[in-house]
Amino acid sequence: MKKNYDVAVFQGDGIGPEIMAPTLEILRQLSRGSPSYELAFTDAPAGAGHYTKTGESFPAGSLETARNADAILLSAMGLPDVRYPDGTEISPQIDLRKKLGLFAGVRPVKVSSGQITPLALPPGKEIDFVLIRESTEGLFFTQGAGEVTEHEARETLLITREVSEKLFRFAFELAKNRKASGRGQGRVTCVDKANVFRAFAFFRSIFDMEAARHPDLKADHAYVDATALWMVQKPWEFDVLVTENMFGDILSDLGAGLMGGLGLAPSADIGLNHAVFQPCHGSAPDIAGQGIANPFAMILSAAMMLEWLGFTHDHPDLSSDGERLREAVEKVTANGQNLTRDLGGTAGTKGAAASVLEAMRA
Ligand code: NAD
Repeated sequence: MKKNYDVAVFQGDGIGPEIMAPTLEILRQLSRGSPSYELAFTDAPAGAGHYTKTGESFPAGSLETARNADAILLSAMGLPDVRYPDGTEISPQIDLRKKLGLFAGVRPVKVSSGQITPLALPPGKEIDFVLIRESTEGLFFTQGAGEVTEHEARETLLITREVSEKLFRFAFELAKNRKASGRGQGRVTCVDKANVFRAFAFFRSIFDMEAARHPDLKADHAYVDATALWMVQKPWEFDVLVTENMFGDILSDLGAGLMGGLGLAPSADIGLNHAVFQPCHGSAPDIAGQGIANPFAMILSAAMMLEWLGFTHDHPDLSSDGERLREAVEKVTANGQNLTRDLGGTAGTKGAAASVLEAMRA
């Protein structure tokens, strides 16, 4: 008998629904072909378009659908022209992180041979590291509630022991699993600014306590500014990087740049009981409705979802389908055919997604 998994689906705004449709089609085909699992999808309305229509950006029912699901698949949300009266944008994806305690923002940065990257990689070097961005506090803690007077503006950075301990435990666990699967050297780097801010010295001290529990893994520290430099100069040396929310927000876009653009950058926001999988990019209103958006980051995020479901439910078929899906995207990008315009090709969203299905069947 097949085991059922419920997936909550946030279709998003702009190009969101355009890249979600082929992704769901791929997942449906995998589910139909699997002897051991069945995926069921439930739409959870939210976002800028929903706010414009109904005056509500994130209905309670949609949060409930997300809470009850085994995993959450989310396309890009928000539109620059749709804002709350205080001038901030509609961003249910950030609300979800806080409401479901999704403290670990996982951003894989992988450049395989054949993939376009702005760097000239030395022969034999590939980029394969994971950036973990704390996603519930840090400098995003006062998001939407910063104090602004006529003369000054103030936001607060918060680092708590409770969240930092969970974050570092997650980072070392990930490094251990990567090492076991032959994808990493078993190294975790704490990225901070402990030379200047007491909050980051505190962050680092909690990291060191967790590091002491893992004598089998390497642990070191790097300042965020030097990390930005090294991500360009020697990114192949990294394995797992773990950092504060705002630093992670910025470095993950640099990571996407190394991969040839946001169109290839997937992500996961993971907590103890829930996880959201979504592309790193936004709703790209400049190309919405034209059928030219790159679906790969969304598809790679769905692959991460399958791997995570397989890992957390001890269901190897799901993990191996996730891996197959990721490898199929890698094959298509390495091959250079059927790429969308952002990657230098001429394919549309549907054609690019269809080539992933073909690569998986091959
Ligand atoms: P963006 O990522 O939407 O777009 C930046 C550039 O990258 C644009 O030129 C766009 O065309 C291109 N691009 C992005 N994704 C692409 C894809 N899949 N294929 C081809 N090209 C792609 O960033 P932005 O313009 O700063 O933001 C647009 C909206 O998205 C804003 O409302 C923003 O708040 C929102 N946003 C949402 C998320 C999220 O849902 N996680 C993340 C970032 C931005």
